[in-house]
Amino acid sequence: MGDGTSTNTSVGRGKDARALTMATRQGPILETPTCRDKGSKFPARRSLVEFDPGGAIRNRRVAIVGAGAAGTLAAIFAATAGAETLLLERTRDGGRKILISGGGRCNILPARVDERRFVTDSSPNTLRKILRSWPLADQVAFFERGLGMPLVEEPESAKLFPASHRARDVRDGLLTLAARAGARFVPDTLVTGLAPRARGWEVEREGAAPLVVDAVVVATGGLSVPNTGSDGRGIAILRALGHTLHPTYAALTPIVAGPSPFGALAGVSLPVTISASGDHRHSASSGGFLFTHRGYSGPSVLDVSHVLVRSRQEADGTARLTVRWTARDEAGWESALQPVGTRTVAGVLRRDLPERLADALAMQAGVAASHPLAQLRREDRLRLISVLVRGELPWVGDEGYRKAEVTGGGVSLAEIDPRTMESRRHPRLFICGEVLDAFGPIGGYNFLWAWATGRAAGEAAARSA
Ligand SMILES: Cc1cc2nc3c(=O)[nH]c(=O)nc-3n(C[C@H](O)[C@H](O)[C@H](O)COP(=O)(O)OP(=O)(O)OC[C@H]3O[C@@H](n4cnc5c(N)ncnc54)[C@H](O)[C@@H]3O)c2cc1C
Repeated sequence: MGDGTSTNTSVGRGKDARALTMATRQGPILETPTCRDKGSKFPARRSLVEFDPGGAIRNRRVAIVGAGAAGTLAAIFAATAGAETLLLERTRDGGRKILISGGGRCNILPARVDERRFVTDSSPNTLRKILRSWPLADQVAFFERGLGMPLVEEPESAKLFPASHRARDVRDGLLTLAARAGARFVPDTLVTGLAPRARGWEVEREGAAPLVVDAVVVATGGLSVPNTGSDGRGIAILRALGHTLHPTYAALTPIVAGPSPFGALAGVSLPVTISASGDHRHSASSGGFLFTHRGYSGPSVLDVSHVLVRSRQEADGTARLTVRWTARDEAGWESALQPVGTRTVAGVLRRDLPERLADALAMQAGVAASHPLAQLRREDRLRLISVLVRGELPWVGDEGYRKAEVTGGGVSLAEIDPRTMESRRHPRLFICGEVLDAFGPIGGYNFLWAWATGRAAGEAAARSA
């Protein structure tokens, strides 16, 4: 990796003395304490030396809108590349999605990447190019060596977590690194619009004078879990600038079931293989499944939920949700349910399934759980096997953006240069993270996307002519 070999030790901290004085010359660009001021609260980290691109040291002024995962990475790399970097954030602290990610543990990356699992309405080729711009191994090295944060793998899920298992360490560590690279964190700043100028941008803020900068990075996230600060305002700003947006939708969100044979199973969980199929879309996933009070959740359900969400959004919600409840396929159940001996249906099913679910599935198939296998009619056995390997899960809705881990849709990847994340519509405007038309499954894929696009955007913004 090119980034990993530089020996430049100045880490982008105002490599040119002019960068530090510019703020004063150009007026009060910072009304609030800088990240650097706050930095003393945090433990010292190793320098970013290995990751310093060490290229052009230009006195660019870059505003990054949104201090989430993508924006903070953009700030680190823009400041490291020598730009005077402002990280504008509407909340007091930023990075709130990082804090709640992975149940507070932050599943920072996947241990392995299957690019085919990303979802986009844009060109999958463009998506791949972007992903490959910062390969997984290099991202891991950034966290372990650049941030000084060892990662550990949870083998059963192939997820990587910080060894401390504390999402706060990730959020604070990244903000500290951004500050040490020279970026200034400007909290409580709602950006309300962007206006192109002859050679740069005017960044409009609520209740404050606009900022004039050479380049802007939009990293405002999607629409999901709006109380983290990401409420779609950035999407509206980009739309107003003429960008093509693919319709947005809640993704990785729990599914709501109407009255169903599974109503009393809340809390029951197990690994399954699940499929969602609509008229034009199909998605399948293997992993944890959880019955909730309102329906279904767990990683496998979240992974396929967008097919159901979009089937409601675009048509009449007729997509089907089907489950293979165990590792056994049709032939496996044929042999397990042979009509011999004294065993009952429940006795066999309960060997592979939680007891209450085994009974509910027998009921769904119209077979009494207490029925001896020896007396099970062939058509009953076939119906039971069908329920076990491709059982239909009734559903009526979804939990929407309130609980969605990501937003699908967004700015078309066709409008982005995949090497730099620069808008093809506006020079010196860079777009990264969830605001773009792409998301991945549960497992660290969405941070992978945020880190990769944030890094590319920040570095390119700092160098943009
Ligand atoms: C509950 C939950 C758990 C998750 N767990 C994981 C996980 O373990 N692993 C994983 O890979 N992904 C996870 N994700 C998804 C991941 O958090 C997101 O994909 C990622 O945070 C997106 O990064 P982003 O920087 O694009 O957007 P965000 O993280 O949403 O950041 C956007 C930032 O922009 C700010 N902002 C928005 N508009 C403005 C404006 N107009 N002016 C100024 N600031 C603005 C917001 O306040 C916010 O700080 C999870 C998501 C949720 C909701």
